[in-house]
Amino acid sequence: MKSEIKKLAADVKKFLKSHEEDDLFLKAAAPAAAPKHTPAQTAAPAKSVAPAAREPEEFHTLESIAKQISSCQRCALGATRIKAVPGEGNPKARLMFVGEGPGYEEDRQGRPFVGKAGQLLDKIIAAMGFKREEVFIANMVKCHPMIDPQNPEKRGNDRAPVPDEIALCRGYVERQIDAVGPDYIVALGGVAAKSLIRDAKSLTQIRGKIYDLELSSVQLAKPVKILATFHPAALLRNPGWKKDTWADLKVLLADMGRTPPKSA
Ligand code: SF4
Repeated sequence: MKSEIKKLAADVKKFLKSHEEDDLFLKAAAPAAAPKHTPAQTAAPAKSVAPAAREPEEFHTLESIAKQISSCQRCALGATRIKAVPGEGNPKARLMFVGEGPGYEEDRQGRPFVGKAGQLLDKIIAAMGFKREEVFIANMVKCHPMIDPQNPEKRGNDRAPVPDEIALCRGYVERQIDAVGPDYIVALGGVAAKSLIRDAKSLTQIRGKIYDLELSSVQLAKPVKILATFHPAALLRNPGWKKDTWADLKVLLADMGRTPPKSA
């Protein structure tokens, strides 16, 4: 009898835990409210807000988030990935970069931004006066979106994640932002920019301005600023946009009170 009661208690605990997790994602997947973001330069000073009632702490460590991602099958991308790509970097980074999703190389290595676009991102980070290991790098979705999922060995098979995939996955990146607690985020490309800034305008219209970040599933314990610029993959296709990207990043560096190295 005792053992049956123990088993019942364990089942209830397990159910409640999975329910808490589902609830977290339902909140994250909820349709975005009307954009509340105004450029931070013109917005009223952001107040420090107390964290909302939080799910158990173990949901909020980078290690536990990565563990959940590694076994996640919430969207169809989970079925075709080779490796999930949670993100990596300084767990207490002041600066975080968020792209759209893993590509061919990232899928194989399980690390973000390790292909050609990643090499360019490394140069951008260095030009800003940081080392890659000083920042945290992640994506909106954690598994490789493919044009032809039946053909994972094909090169040039990458695509941007669709809104449903982003909605199902965004709880992870939001909890990563909460766990790292950066002061600044750079959204790389239109997908990350429009998902995080949730502004209906195009990347061209929102890039190069600093916004106050608000998340769907997590109430931030302190203000975080976000700036959008071009994705490094777009810069490889359009090298002429590099100077625009650098102009955007200089806005961020000035706000951070940093002067880029003279060699930049
Ligand atoms: S992309 Fe995100 S939601 Fe979809 S399976 Fe991978 S980790 Fe899960």
